[in-house]
Amino acid sequence: GNIADTLTRGVENVADTLTSPFTEPVIRLGVTGLSRAGKTVFITSLVANLMDRGRMPQLVAEAEGRILAAYLQPQPDDTMPRFDYETHLAALTASAPHWPDSTRAVSQLRLSLKIRPTGLLAGISGARKLHLDIVDYPGEWLLDLGLMDKSYAEWAEDTLTRMQHRPGGTQYLEMARAEDSTQGLDEVRAKALASAFTKALQTARAAGFSDCTPGRFLLPGEKEGSPVLTFAPLPKPSDPPRKSLWREMERRFEAYKSQIVKPFFRDHFSRIDRQVVLVDALGAIHAGPAAMEDLRRTMADILTAFRPGGNAFLSSLLLGKRVEKILFAATKADHLHHSQHARLTAIMEALTREARDRARFAGAETGAMSIAALRATVEETLPHDGRRLDCVRGTLLTDDGTRGREAAFYPGELPQDPARLLGPAREGAESWLDNDYAIMRFAPAALSLKPGEGPPHIRLDRAAQFLIGDRL
Ligand code: GDP
Repeated sequence: GNIADTLTRGVENVADTLTSPFTEPVIRLGVTGLSRAGKTVFITSLVANLMDRGRMPQLVAEAEGRILAAYLQPQPDDTMPRFDYETHLAALTASAPHWPDSTRAVSQLRLSLKIRPTGLLAGISGARKLHLDIVDYPGEWLLDLGLMDKSYAEWAEDTLTRMQHRPGGTQYLEMARAEDSTQGLDEVRAKALASAFTKALQTARAAGFSDCTPGRFLLPGEKEGSPVLTFAPLPKPSDPPRKSLWREMERRFEAYKSQIVKPFFRDHFSRIDRQVVLVDALGAIHAGPAAMEDLRRTMADILTAFRPGGNAFLSSLLLGKRVEKILFAATKADHLHHSQHARLTAIMEALTREARDRARFAGAETGAMSIAALRATVEETLPHDGRRLDCVRGTLLTDDGTRGREAAFYPGELPQDPARLLGPAREGAESWLDNDYAIMRFAPAALSLKPGEGPPHIRLDRAAQFLIGDRL
């Protein structure tokens, strides 16, 4: 028995090393975007469509019949929350489907693919394995990178200036100016200032503004209520004494940088190979020119994270490693008839041009697309005032979250030339998407999926091809 045992174990060891995680390639795909951009829906539908590939014709390896299997596996990082795929998919595929809970913090999911190689290798070697580690994280946290090279005094001055022109700003500004920050720290005052500041950020965000840093004030994660999240911008007094409120705010700001921002970039961001940045461009277009200009600047800021050369802090973390591909995707394209999708993509390209030029400079391949991770509408063309109107039909969501009436809607038009929205030509401050768009909050469509079919989408297969197709 002993010899046989030893032999079997020997064989097992060899088999182990052949399939050990060290020899199996891994792609870490980062999925980010500001809150409500569509990250949760994107990951859920992408994974479901990679497991049931009936709707993925633009994924080349699938079209060639080389994806033999796709299945979920325990992720390698034991301490990182798992992306709650099953719960989110159950929400979307229930008999009365509803949207899943949105991203609040970082999470991860491992999807493993079994692939038949192409070309000469196809006959000789068996299937190979590729692990796709999907990392979901709030775009708000990415924007915190901009805080790393600022002192508290600089950050406070910038933030207070910016608040003058934003909804919700005035109230906080009055409070901050009235505060005598040379007095000693009073925890109750500190908390009141932090919560008034948070409220101002939330108001600006709700009005369509994108850059509302510090990111953890909107999405705190597990540190909610701790001193590192209890600070606010205050004007600098001429000579703030030690132990004053101003000095304590300064200390907490530094703690936020070193204990919140830095670990996120070190532990999560620095390990990403491919990245998709989801953008609710339609929402910003509808919100108007100021929100759109803010989004354009925010996209450029987000992209500084992908050009580490310009940032000493990041260069020291990344040590030469870089993201290979970045996709900018305008989400929720199912709000528009496909006849307007090319315009949306052109806007997305213009919106991210500066950002994409920088990334290209850093060696990453970039792309822009319009997608819907979960298609909630069907198209319909209706006669209207003697012309034909390209509409989408869907079921509205009522204020209490139940399914409302089903009807065809016309969101309004996008400009043919993106410069009308983004360039100097936008001075006319025309408004776009001002027909039905404001009321178009759709419920997810009730699905009747055939076996092997993932949820319906728009161009999710092309997004997947861009992001991982070359490795399949
Ligand atoms: P997150 O905050 O980035 O995780 O955003 P979610 O994935 O939770 O999406 C926010 C909301 O956007 C959802 O609750 C839906 O209302 C809407 N949404 C997201 N993706 C789509 C889509 O493909 N089509 C439509 N019609 N709505 C979407």
